[in-house]
Amino acid sequence: MSLLEKIKSLSQAHSAKTVAIRRHIHANPELSYQEVNTVKYVEEQLRSFGITNITRMAGTGLVAEVAGKNPTRKTIALRADMDALPIVEANDVPYKSTNPGVMHACGHDVHTSSLLGTARILNEVKDQFEGTVRFLFQPGEEKNPGGASYMIRDGALENPRPVGIIGQHVFPLLPAGKIGFREGMYMASADEIYLRVIGKGGHGAAPELAIDPIVIASHIIIALQQIISRNASPKQPTVLTFGDIVGKGATNIIPDEVRIAGTFRAMNETWRASGLQKIQKMAESLAEGMGGRCEVEISHGYPYLENNPELTRRLRVAAEAYVGQENVHDIDITLGAEDFAYYSQVIPASFYRLGTRNDAKGLTSYVHTPTFNIDEDALAIGPGLMAWMAVNELAG
Ligand SMILES: [Zn+2]
Ligand SMILES: [Zn+2]
Repeated sequence: MSLLEKIKSLSQAHSAKTVAIRRHIHANPELSYQEVNTVKYVEEQLRSFGITNITRMAGTGLVAEVAGKNPTRKTIALRADMDALPIVEANDVPYKSTNPGVMHACGHDVHTSSLLGTARILNEVKDQFEGTVRFLFQPGEEKNPGGASYMIRDGALENPRPVGIIGQHVFPLLPAGKIGFREGMYMASADEIYLRVIGKGGHGAAPELAIDPIVIASHIIIALQQIISRNASPKQPTVLTFGDIVGKGATNIIPDEVRIAGTFRAMNETWRASGLQKIQKMAESLAEGMGGRCEVEISHGYPYLENNPELTRRLRVAAEAYVGQENVHDIDITLGAEDFAYYSQVIPASFYRLGTRNDAKGLTSYVHTPTFNIDEDALAIGPGLMAWMAVNELAG
């Protein structure tokens, strides 16, 4: 039996166990940076597979390794995230969340169980590949500053540095059985912008005695959109959205201040830095020119995610061998953000999508919704596919 056939048959044979692990994690979701029981469970599962090279890090994260023959030849890293979201689950399933108000609505239960399955398979075929596979189970993908940044801080990409890192994410836009790839530009940086426009409150009928922060804020919002349309390259997707504006005056009261909050996203780190500067300068100087003041606070989020083209191309070839060319698809860029991007700033990285949709079973909800769920048939593929990609990278 070829290694490909062996990995496929193991992935299939273990799929009931992978689903059981997924359901356990799904029923016991934990919020970002609070994955105490999840990481404990992950460690127990790894040990039950006979994997003992385990290091806890990043608070509630861990790294495990499986060494093949000639283990120092090369190391490849595989990553899963473990945190859930503050959402009340609306699915009526036997493995429904038992932690009120917390739900695995982004599929991180799937990523974790799938990577556990991958670890189990690779441990079972470790005499058939050369090099080492490092498994990163990270906390806090859904919340700034991102668990990935803590994993890197704690050395997850050191001693030795892996030649690359691969991440998998569920994808409700693609049917189960299909896999999505994108070379190069893939996901956006995401920064939060908080503006406090300060004027001077007064009677609505006597604006000459006040400094109206509502009017200043209105100008700022319009002017900032022009930074996007006039300063950003039309060849680089970018977006600025203000979804929150509060100015608590009344029909006849000019308030003292207005607060505005929004998100700025970019697909290029140089533009990201200069765009943020321009936003700050424009808001401050416009407010000043109109007699008020604007305090600008920027909360830096995840960086831009670039899928290393060579690595992604090789993974795609491996995936075509695994699921068939007809089941491998190109996917579009998204201005969503992912903390996997932090890894891509250190080593070649590739983030691909595991199809999880099934229209016939009514599994069509998008991630981050109370009815999100997956077609668990995807879990027969996920573990073996990633194992196959890993051994291919080590072989090259
Ligand atoms: Zn998410
Ligand atoms: Zn996610």
